[in-house]
Amino acid sequence: MPRVFNFSPGPATLPEPVLRQAADEMLDWRGSGMSVMEMSHRGKEFMSIQAEAEASLRELLAIPPNYTVLFLQGGGIGQNAIVPMNLIGRTGRADYVLSGDWSKRSADEAAHFGPIRIAASSEEGGRYLRMPAPSEWKLDPGAAYVHYCANETIGGVECFWTPDTGGVPLVSDMSSNLLSRPIDVSRYGLIYAGAQKNVGMSGLTLVIVREDLLGHALPTTPSVFNYQIQAKADSMYNTPPTYAIYIAGLVFKHVQSLGGLAAMEAHNRAKAAVLYDFLDQSRFFSNPVEPADRSRMNVPFWLRDTSLDEVFLKGAQARGLVQLKGHRSVGGMRASIYNAMPIEGVRALVDYMREFEARHG
Ligand SMILES: *Cc1c(COP(=O)(O)O)cnc(C)c1O
Repeated sequence: MPRVFNFSPGPATLPEPVLRQAADEMLDWRGSGMSVMEMSHRGKEFMSIQAEAEASLRELLAIPPNYTVLFLQGGGIGQNAIVPMNLIGRTGRADYVLSGDWSKRSADEAAHFGPIRIAASSEEGGRYLRMPAPSEWKLDPGAAYVHYCANETIGGVECFWTPDTGGVPLVSDMSSNLLSRPIDVSRYGLIYAGAQKNVGMSGLTLVIVREDLLGHALPTTPSVFNYQIQAKADSMYNTPPTYAIYIAGLVFKHVQSLGGLAAMEAHNRAKAAVLYDFLDQSRFFSNPVEPADRSRMNVPFWLRDTSLDEVFLKGAQARGLVQLKGHRSVGGMRASIYNAMPIEGVRALVDYMREFEARHG
C-alpha cells in the first residue's frame, strides 16, 4: 500500500524520513538496547534526547535566552485554561482577540479564571472570514496579556503580522502554524502549540514563555500546569510525553536539514498558491476568506453544489487523497497542507478538483 496524501488537520501527516528513522530506532535507540518509549525520563539517554530537541527548537526559532521552553501535556485546549491560570494574576484581567472558533474557545475558557474583555472580533453573521485589523484592536493597557490565535485551523484565517500591543504581553496560540515560517519570538510573551499539527505527534504541548512572566500563577493552579514549577524542573515535574518529545526532536532536525524556517515558508507559500490560484479561477469551488488573511496551513473550500460533497470525498479517497472533509461546525472541505505535505500532494488534489469540476460543474 503506497502512502496516501493525508490532508488531516491533526493529528496530521509527518515527514516520511522521520517515520523511517523512528521505525529504524524503534527496538534499539542508538545502542541503548531500548526503545525510547521504555526509557526513564531521568536516564542519561532520554535527558540527551530532550536537551537536543530543545536546542534544535531554539536554533530554528532563534529563541532568545530569556525565554523558557516547556514540554507539557494537555494540548492547545489545556492551554486555554493553563494560560490564564498562570498569567492573569499579574494584573487580574486579560484581553482576547477573536478571529475564529479556536480563539473564541480560548476566550470562553479563560473567563472561568478572571475578567476577560474582547478587544476585537471579526465575527459577522456567525462567521469569521478575516483577521481584525490592527486599528480594530482596542487594547486595555492594564491587561495581564492579550491573546490571539495565529492560525484558525477550522476557519482558515491566518495572521501574517505580529500585533503591536504597546508593552502588554502578547500570547499566541500557534498550534497549527508554528514552524511554518520564521517569527520574531522576542515580540511575544508566550507562544503555545499542540504538537500534532505541524510539529510532531499528539501528547506534547510546547510552551515558549518569557521568564519575567513566571511566578504569577493563581494559588489553585495544579503544580503540573504551573509554568514556574515546570520550568524549575526542566519540564520533568511529572513524567513528560517522552516519545512525543523524541518525535518532535526528529522533526526539528528534519526541518533544519531542509534549510530551516525560511525554506519552510517558501515551500508553504508555493503550496498554498497552487490551491488558492485554482480556487480563485474555479466557478465550482470557492474559499470565502479575505485574501490577505488566507491560511497557508488549512484551506477550507466549498463545492457550489453541496449535494456532491460525498461524491467528491469518495472520489478523492479512491485516489489516495484522504481526510478532506471540513470541520463539522462549518461543513464543506478542508485541505490541511502543513510542512510535511509535499507540493505533489497539493498538485494531485488540484488535478482531481479540476477533473471533478469538468465533470460536474
Ligand atoms: C488543534 C488546535 C487546538 C486544540 O488542540 P488539542 O491538542 O486538541 O487540545 C487549539 N488551537 C488550535 C489553533 C488548534 O489548531
